[in-house]
Amino acid sequence: MSSNLLKQFSRSFTVRLSVAYAAIFTASAAVLFGMLYLLLAAALENKDREIIEARLEECAAVFDNGGLPALQRLVQRAGESAKTKSFFVRVTGLAGSVLVLTVPNDWVQFDTATLQQTNPEAQRSWLRIPKDEERDITLASMRLRDGSLLEVGRSTNSRTLLLDPFKRNFLLVMTPTLILGVLGGAFFAHRATKPVREVVATARAISNTGDLSARVPVRVSRTELAELAQEFNSVLDKNQALIQGMREALDNVAHDLRTPLTRLRGTAEAAVQDTSDDTAREALADCVEESDRVLTMLTALMDITEAEAGVMKLKKAQTSINALLENVAELYQFVSEEKQITISTSFPSSCETAVDATRMRQAFANLLDNALKYTPAGGTVQLSCTEDSTSVTAMLKDDGIGIPAVDQSRIWDRLYRGDKSRSERGLGLGLSLVKAIVKAHRGQVSVESRPGEGASFAVMIPKSPH
Ligand code: ADP
Repeated sequence: MSSNLLKQFSRSFTVRLSVAYAAIFTASAAVLFGMLYLLLAAALENKDREIIEARLEECAAVFDNGGLPALQRLVQRAGESAKTKSFFVRVTGLAGSVLVLTVPNDWVQFDTATLQQTNPEAQRSWLRIPKDEERDITLASMRLRDGSLLEVGRSTNSRTLLLDPFKRNFLLVMTPTLILGVLGGAFFAHRATKPVREVVATARAISNTGDLSARVPVRVSRTELAELAQEFNSVLDKNQALIQGMREALDNVAHDLRTPLTRLRGTAEAAVQDTSDDTAREALADCVEESDRVLTMLTALMDITEAEAGVMKLKKAQTSINALLENVAELYQFVSEEKQITISTSFPSSCETAVDATRMRQAFANLLDNALKYTPAGGTVQLSCTEDSTSVTAMLKDDGIGIPAVDQSRIWDRLYRGDKSRSERGLGLGLSLVKAIVKAHRGQVSVESRPGEGASFAVMIPKSPH
């Protein structure tokens, strides 16, 4: 995995969320495991203490009833039974002499002198001393009525004995817990961030394709993220309505201006013939020329609207796309020679399909016009056409200034012109008309370009059975 990809991966919100989830899940499991150990250890210790305490109480009761001899008898008897032999009992007189002592067999190696005296003042004192790896010694003591100290002890389970299996099993339990945490985290994070991803995908689709009708899939749930998606959709709705309104206003203006402008042009043209004043004739000729320019723009705008609305009237006939491209190349021969740009053609197959030849020629002419406009002297423009069983694809490829990636989705918008194109003549309607005409033929037009390396426009027209 490249470091860039790794960086992107670690920055992903979904990944961070799943890592956090897995960490919390695993930490909770570890805490649970630890608490379980402490509770178990405490429960076992309590049990041990209860047993020792019972023996201590028994010894104290015997002493209270029968004095030291009775206690000595009890201890002697106890030595004969394996069960009671497991207890350590010691009575230390006030002077420090040991009055009664019994030590379990398995304590043989153990020096009872090392047992520290527990707190003599307290009612009941407890002491725990490590004996070996598996056992501890737990000792309880109390003052007898005559002031001597009674100590009762027993081997108890060592904490390490309990801890060991816990330690051993910790990894065994934590590994699947961690895997479960990571998988569960990934699943929930993926699910939780789905609406966010959908919003991002929709925004990206709109900015890449310019398709304003794209919307985030709506969900019934009322979570914050679902609300975000709904709000985002309603912003898009308003945006689309606004743009639609602007387009309609532009169409209406174009429609309303055409008639008076045509009349104006006709009047100016008639006046040119009638006047003998040179200055007036020149001014009127300018009026005709400018009117033509504006009329071309208005006609293009109306054509685009018509084609987009699906009401453009097409006179379709089986036509050779090769011939149309040749035709357009001839039309622009003079311009290309003047700009010292070579137009080359390559037509490996016949490329025939049903199109409106006039409209299609208009589209190719716009594309070639652009290619020549945005290619510096000495460049080349290649026209070619290929076909397969379902479609015909015409390509116009130049090695000119190219189109920046950010502009590639916007060049199809009406009146949009690239920053570098402002010095060239143009209205920003050429490509919109191309797109509209191709769309009216149920085809597709696309561009591939890198700034400085030229642009390649592909017009795909589906073959229709005739
Ligand atoms: P214009 O009248 O500006 O040529 P178009 O709609 O034909 O309007 O094109 C829109 C924009 O697309 C142009 O302003 C230009 O920036 C860019 N463009 C179109 N064709 C090319 C091309 N062959 N090479 C570079 N840029 C192009």
